[in-house]
Amino acid sequence: MSTCIFCRIASGQAPAVSLAETPRVLAFLDIAPVNYGHTLVIPKEHHESFLDLPDDLWLEMGQVARRVAQALRTTLFARGINLGMNNGDAAGQVVFHAHIHVIPRYLSDGLMLFPQHNYLAGDMEKVGEQLRRALAGQGA
Ligand code: AMP
Ligand code: ZN
Repeated sequence: MSTCIFCRIASGQAPAVSLAETPRVLAFLDIAPVNYGHTLVIPKEHHESFLDLPDDLWLEMGQVARRVAQALRTTLFARGINLGMNNGDAAGQVVFHAHIHVIPRYLSDGLMLFPQHNYLAGDMEKVGEQLRRALAGQGA
C-alpha cells in the first residue's frame, strides 16, 4: 500500500469528500480549509510537484480547478478565488503529491497574501535578463 496520502485517496484506500473527477484528475475538499469549500485538485498518478507533471495532465488539472472555482462561485457565493500551489519544502509543501489549492474568498475574510518587496536599483533588469536567457534556452 502506498504511503502517500493523496495516492491513497486517489485509489480509494483513504477517505475524502470527493467533488469531481476526470480519468486522470480528482478534486476533493481540503481537510483543514482556509474557507469552507477549499478544494484540492490532484493528479491520480503520483507526481511530486508541478515541475514533474506532463503538460497534458497539468492542463487537465487546470480545467478541473476552473470547474471547481465556478461551483464555489455559484454554490458558496465566493466573491473571489485564489489558486495556490506549494512546490517544494521551501515553498511550504507538506504533502509531496502535486496539488492545486482552489480557495473561495470573501471580502474581509482575513486571509493575508504574500508580503512583497522592492528590487534594489538595477536588479529587476538583471533578474529579467537571467530568466529570459533561461527561458530562451528551453525554447519557451
Ligand atoms: P501543502 O502541501 O502545504 O500544499 O498542504 C497540504 C494540504 O493538504 C493542506 O492544506 C492539508 O490540510 C491538506 N490535507 C492533508 N491531508 C489531507 C487529507 N487526508 N484530506 C484532505 N486534505 C488533506
Ligand atoms: Zn502520491
